[in-house]
Amino acid sequence: MARASEALRVEESRAVGARTVAGLVNSIETLEGAGFLVRRPFPKASFSKFDPFLLLDEMGPMELAPGQAKGAPDHPHRGFETVTYLLSGEMEHKDSRGHKGRLRAGDVQWMTAGAGVVHSEMPSREFQRDGGRLHGFQLWVNLPQRDKMMRPRYQEIQAARIPKATSDDRLVTVSVIAGEAMGKQAVIETCTPIIYLHYTIKPGGAVSQRVPVEYNAFAYIVDGEGRFGAEGERALDGQMVLFAQDGDLVRIENAADAKTTLEVLLIAGVPLNEAVARYGPFVMNTEGEILQAIEDYREGRMGVINS
Ligand code: MN
Repeated sequence: MARASEALRVEESRAVGARTVAGLVNSIETLEGAGFLVRRPFPKASFSKFDPFLLLDEMGPMELAPGQAKGAPDHPHRGFETVTYLLSGEMEHKDSRGHKGRLRAGDVQWMTAGAGVVHSEMPSREFQRDGGRLHGFQLWVNLPQRDKMMRPRYQEIQAARIPKATSDDRLVTVSVIAGEAMGKQAVIETCTPIIYLHYTIKPGGAVSQRVPVEYNAFAYIVDGEGRFGAEGERALDGQMVLFAQDGDLVRIENAADAKTTLEVLLIAGVPLNEAVARYGPFVMNTEGEILQAIEDYREGRMGVINS
């Protein structure tokens, strides 16, 4: 009996408190779409997925000369979601279901491809003509088997509609893209439980964010250098911090003597624990479903974009 209750106590203590850091992942640089450079922590050969997430790309930050901006012209997706978060620049997104929108700084587009869309992500005519600073993110979120063939859904949220909060000490602000933080609830609906937060942390500021133990969680450092997890491990700009599933809080700090503000994305989701069959822009559960997706796309069953 004594042993059993001891074991139980250990279980409980593992489920509460600050998570430790399970590892750091460096980004690789790769070309995407019509040839724009992205930094990509995953997927790569040594680290291909972090259930339920499939990919994270950081576009820029870079200064583009007039005529230099490139995009991703018409391409298909099936079986997952693409989440675009733009910090600077101006993009125009369209799809074969007739959705259309312009993303500006701070806007989010949460596109659920479901059964399939043809998607176009291009710089706006003005941004293409004038150039300027480009900075943004695209996250791929896998869909559970039950939602893979759902009707495509498109949520476009302008910056002003994304809930934001500031800490009492004024050192931390958060934009709540998905989930809940500092008493604010996101307006975006997700198919499975997802947390997507953008923190801005001044020197001396600290975050203790509740992330239930069943979530897989990571941080991506957008700018600066921070200290992460129970032990305060250091990580900087372009690195991804993987948290262990050993607590229900994520700790992030910007040291009091830091020179710069720390910008971090904190992203978490409950793992699907389902088979993943992946081929480029199609992510399904079986090889057969991938072959079907390729055929459906070739036969035009995901539609075409009417400009
Ligand atoms: Mn796309």
